[in-house]
Amino acid sequence: NLSKRMQAVADLVPAAKTIADIGSDHAYLPAYLLLNGIIQFAIAGEVRKGPLKNVTLEIERLQLQGKMEARLGDGLDVIHANDQVEVITIAGMGGELITKILERGIDKLNSGTTLVLQPNVDENILRSWLMKHNFKIIAENIVVDANHYYEMIKAQYCFEQVVYSKTELDFGPILKQQQSPIFKAKWNHRLKKNNEILAKLKKSNTHPVTKIKKLESFKSEMEDVLN
Ligand code: SAM
Repeated sequence: NLSKRMQAVADLVPAAKTIADIGSDHAYLPAYLLLNGIIQFAIAGEVRKGPLKNVTLEIERLQLQGKMEARLGDGLDVIHANDQVEVITIAGMGGELITKILERGIDKLNSGTTLVLQPNVDENILRSWLMKHNFKIIAENIVVDANHYYEMIKAQYCFEQVVYSKTELDFGPILKQQQSPIFKAKWNHRLKKNNEILAKLKKSNTHPVTKIKKLESFKSEMEDVLN
């Protein structure tokens, strides 16, 4: 059984012949997709030898030899042109690291690539990168798992220009639209925290104006989205 977070990632992966899961560690995601017949072949990439060993053990345990390949390498380096990868999944890392991996491996992306991404933090950084490179966000998901809110983003290359507002980049164009109970809970929680920090800063002797302004503008952004 997958964790709630992983299941929500898996739910966004379309049926495909070949996927590459980057930073795969235990390879739970590609293993699930293979065992459920959603995909036919998986490349599980890892930059570190320890986690790569976990992939190898999982392949043996589930007898997925010939269906999953463990490859050592940095980011999208493990993807070769003749693999004909249709979907790239990157989950469980910061949005900044996911962005770096995509930026460094941009040559491996083409108009047919579907990206399924799950940043632990800094979702806005990742969405900005997607917009800049004409990847349209076609689905999003949000779950709460072990007291942490996780967002999933599915994106596809688009030949027309993709434009998102700052608010859409910060909150997710689809998540913001859907206003699910989990989405509301996340941002109400953030708003409360933001207000607590603001109150403290306003009382402090240093009274850091720039910081206060930033928090105040984020506060009104959150209030607008939640209303
Ligand atoms: N994807 C799994 C998940 O969502 O549960 C594992 C997440 S684990 C926290 C992050 C993994 O990414 C680590 O095993 C780490 O070695 C790997 N990683 C970090 N940077 C990477 C890179 N540049 N290329 C490939 N793997 C990377």
